[in-house]
Amino acid sequence: MNLQVTRPPLSIRLCGPRGFCAGVDRAIQIVVLALKAYGAPVYVRHEIVHNRYVVEGLEAKGAVFVEELDEIPAEHRAQPVVFSAHGVPKSVPEDAVSRSLFYLDATCPLVSKVHKQAMRHQRLGRHVVLIGHAGHPEVIGTMGQLPPGAVSLVETVDDVDRYEPADPDNLGYVTQTTLSVDDTAGVIARLQQRFPNLTAPAADSICYATTNRQEAVKQAAPGCDLFIIVGAPNSSNSKRLVEVALRAGAKRSLLVQRADELDWADIGAIGTLGLSAGASAPEVIVDEIIAAFKERFDARIDLAVTTEENENFLVNRELRGVPLTAEDMAWVNG
Ligand code: SF4
Repeated sequence: MNLQVTRPPLSIRLCGPRGFCAGVDRAIQIVVLALKAYGAPVYVRHEIVHNRYVVEGLEAKGAVFVEELDEIPAEHRAQPVVFSAHGVPKSVPEDAVSRSLFYLDATCPLVSKVHKQAMRHQRLGRHVVLIGHAGHPEVIGTMGQLPPGAVSLVETVDDVDRYEPADPDNLGYVTQTTLSVDDTAGVIARLQQRFPNLTAPAADSICYATTNRQEAVKQAAPGCDLFIIVGAPNSSNSKRLVEVALRAGAKRSLLVQRADELDWADIGAIGTLGLSAGASAPEVIVDEIIAAFKERFDARIDLAVTTEENENFLVNRELRGVPLTAEDMAWVNG
């Protein structure tokens, strides 16, 4: 009797670039290096990046996640507190100083660049229009660079249509770094239509990592029966990748955090799978998803690479002398 079960063929279009961007890599390195340099506990304000696996991995190493600085016990004031990659309002470092806390800022340099562009608009007398998602930590951080009332948030074309600024000839815009490139172009076009004197930022606010991941998914999506994006439900750039996959022609798209979430009955018979990961999703989870498909399908990996990335951001000055080995990051990079 032949018990061998024939697995159906599957082409996995594996997008590149995918997963960790330079800003996320740097933020995780900062916590890992701070633990090496100062020992546990190292406090982290807010999820360092939007990924449960990363947060739990750092907790296991001795990081303690808090939402606000007043949760840090007085006896641990000398231990570092790290601010997340999304950036923080100006009031947060001010609060840290007033509490005599030692802080390490892991704000992505590309988010800091958006902060500077918003401040520049204001310095030149413009009211700032921020295109972004209400309540996202990056939006809270960017709005918090300027005094209350100096920034108006718009999310959609409809928001732009409803927007009635006090001085329509004196506006400058910036955007969240992780938005949909195509949707944002539509919102900017409507702003320019309504407010012809609107000033653009000196450089695009949507970052290279967001742009590259969306472009790779767009190229790979046509003809995919299913497109899986590895990422968290609160990760803006991961959710945008799901939308991009659907719009570019994938029949279905799912946001998945771990392989054990895959519902095989629901996935059913597929011949082509698209696969990518948001900027905060570790490569080890991508490997886990591929292994799960290989157990059930005769899977072949077809690389769908649109560009190479070589961005690399330096960690904070205080941590530059602390050695970082491949082993220190193997739990996320594989
Ligand atoms: S997605 Fe872009 S802005 Fe956000 S951390 Fe990564 S590189 Fe920085």
